[in-house]
Amino acid sequence: MIIPYHINNVKEILDKMPNYFGGFKGNSLMTEEILLTGLEYPDVPCSDLAITKDGVKYVNYESCKIPLSLVYLTEEKTNGLKEIVQSHRGRFAVAHAMTYDPSIPVIDVRQKILRRLEILYYLALASDDGVGPGPNIFWLGQIIHCVQDSYSRVHTLRLITKQRKAVRRHKLMYKRNILISQNETKYETFRLVKRISDVLEKKEYKNHNDIQKFLLQNIKQKDLRIIIVKYPDDVIKIFKQLLFYKSQKKRVHSLFKGERQLPSSKNIEQHTSDYVKYPYILSFRYIPHQRKCGKLFHFNYDQPGPTQKAGFERYMTANIIWILKMYKQHVLDRSKKLQTKIAEMMNYLAKNVFPILHGFEKNISAIEGCDLSLKNVYKNYDNAISPDIQINMKKLDIIYDKLKLQNLCNSDKFKTIQMLYTKCHHLYDKLQTKLFITDTDEAKINRYIKLYLISVKRLYGIFFKRFLSQLYNNQ
Ligand SMILES: [Zn+2]
Repeated sequence: MIIPYHINNVKEILDKMPNYFGGFKGNSLMTEEILLTGLEYPDVPCSDLAITKDGVKYVNYESCKIPLSLVYLTEEKTNGLKEIVQSHRGRFAVAHAMTYDPSIPVIDVRQKILRRLEILYYLALASDDGVGPGPNIFWLGQIIHCVQDSYSRVHTLRLITKQRKAVRRHKLMYKRNILISQNETKYETFRLVKRISDVLEKKEYKNHNDIQKFLLQNIKQKDLRIIIVKYPDDVIKIFKQLLFYKSQKKRVHSLFKGERQLPSSKNIEQHTSDYVKYPYILSFRYIPHQRKCGKLFHFNYDQPGPTQKAGFERYMTANIIWILKMYKQHVLDRSKKLQTKIAEMMNYLAKNVFPILHGFEKNISAIEGCDLSLKNVYKNYDNAISPDIQINMKKLDIIYDKLKLQNLCNSDKFKTIQMLYTKCHHLYDKLQTKLFITDTDEAKINRYIKLYLISVKRLYGIFFKRFLSQLYNNQ
């Protein structure tokens, strides 16, 4: 989402929560200013990190100048190593509730997002990032950023409540339909970042000052080695970021040592929001290449308008209020264990921000391209209706046409058939357009099809089999 929307939304919420920062007096890292810095940080990260003998630490929380970072985003091929580009397109895309790889199943992207939020919440409660020990609201700002982004139409695909109106509006806005570009996986810079991340998974980094040497020792691909030598500053920056998260991940793991699962993993099967008619997640998006989608494509959808009109803003706001309240309680409560606090927050986020619509968990994420018109985005999901029903609906149509041809329309029995036919189609259309495939709807439609076939059978009596075989021979 655009930075002003992130900021205004939180400021409006804070206006309704008087004296939110009152309880934190004396802690310089628990102020509105630090919260807002953390909030905009994922969009404009430019901090300095240092590697010390105690690990990698933040030196400051610096934001980049906005126009400069926008320039990087429009030419990501050449700027693939810039932090801002990686933050949106690469390994850190999960920080914006997006996927960096369109082929990863929805549930796996969701779990990666939750694991990232778990680290951030740990830092928010017990920061040891170099800037300050203890609670630090900078990291909560980053959590809220991710929550807000998850309601942006270019970050996720959620179940739309006011679909009809939206279809009309988006038809007017976007007429292009361009397929997704997977070029990012081919860019050397993006490949290098992935490679560094893989190396860090396997190898312990002990060399406190020579990052370049460490990388050249462990990365053998010629084209990637050239980049390491050519752009040392950018490579070192990315390396420090990856190392920082790796070490924080380790700390979280050791905190929950002895427990069967991390709190972020406990909710893998849990997808029921506390909110009524909640816009469940259908898919996470992948930012396609700027050139293909138009430079302003992402920007146009990241505005307040599309989020409000889709009906998402009230859920976003309600969740942020909860997150802020819970965080304050956790910071002030000295009796509750840190593990319990993290578990409570993760439970809330999994249930009420990232529940996935039943049946969509195993789909690949981000199968749509640049065209976000609802018609095109949602057509990819038609197949979610079971193939059996689709086949039966086809049969139903064939029989119905045949009966019509035989001029049986005036018979009383045909009226029942007609009525069941209409019911089946009504329900089928509903399933298709609403994408809300529930077991009971499927059962209902199956029952109608069965009744329909029985009525046709009655109409044709003992000739039913002959009637059917005739029908299919003619097709
Ligand atoms: Zn973002």
